Amino acid sequence: MIDPAPRARMRALLAPLFELTLQDSRLEGMIAGVIDAGCGERLPIPRFVYRGPTTDLESVRLALFALVHGDEPAGATAIFHLLVTAVQDPSLLRGVDLFCYPVCNPTGFADGTRCNRAGVDLNREFWRGSSHGEVQILEAELRAHRFDGLVALHADCDSPGMYAFARGPVTSDELVAPALAASESVLPRNTDVVIDGFSAHHGVIRDCYEGVLAPPPEQSPAPFEIILETPGRASEAAQVQAALSGLRGLIATLPRLSRGGFGI
Ligand SMILES: [Zn+2]
Repeated sequence: MIDPAPRARMRALLAPLFELTLQDSRLEGMIAGVIDAGCGERLPIPRFVYRGPTTDLESVRLALFALVHGDEPAGATAIFHLLVTAVQDPSLLRGVDLFCYPVCNPTGFADGTRCNRAGVDLNREFWRGSSHGEVQILEAELRAHRFDGLVALHADCDSPGMYAFARGPVTSDELVAPALAASESVLPRNTDVVIDGFSAHHGVIRDCYEGVLAPPPEQSPAPFEIILETPGRASEAAQVQAALSGLRGLIATLPRLSRGGFGI
């Protein structure tokens, strides 16, 4: 028998997002794919796309990912608030097509666990021939849309402050700086020289784990890649505000950088 609680948790997160699509034709909500959650249960991986007002340049395709780890819900809430803000003031996303994946690990979110229901950390599975439906769906999205930039939102219970992984082209560094500066108004930055086992400089790490959610290896030019980490022991409300501020700081910097192109 299917437990109704996980489905209710998913509905509580997604209903306000789909409701928001009724308020602004720029925002579309759809199902990127459906995973088999076992025992006959099927859960969606949703995609919300906000097409900001256009400029004389081609719009930047920015993808946001949250809940890759199912017990880190602040990122999904931050995405919701960002979209609410965009609906109220579309100029916030001028020149940006924003692709949002607020629930990348539906069973983990439903169960309140880091891993998916099969016990696998999805953020070690990308571009390694994974058999997990969540990874296959997201890899297909990454291949189909060829984003100019990727931002994944995470939380780290071992970190006392905000930090970020900046991968890919140098623009990752140029964007992560304003993101962290903006989030610092809410939560402090982790200035340790080693964070999560990696050497760090002023809260920025250039190295990363293998198998994290990333662009297709063959994509050229490579998009910018940022993983924004909130301190997992901070209140969820503070994490949401810090992630939201970080995203807004990053997005505000995009128009200046996009004129030179992002890729390498
Ligand atoms: Zn995480």
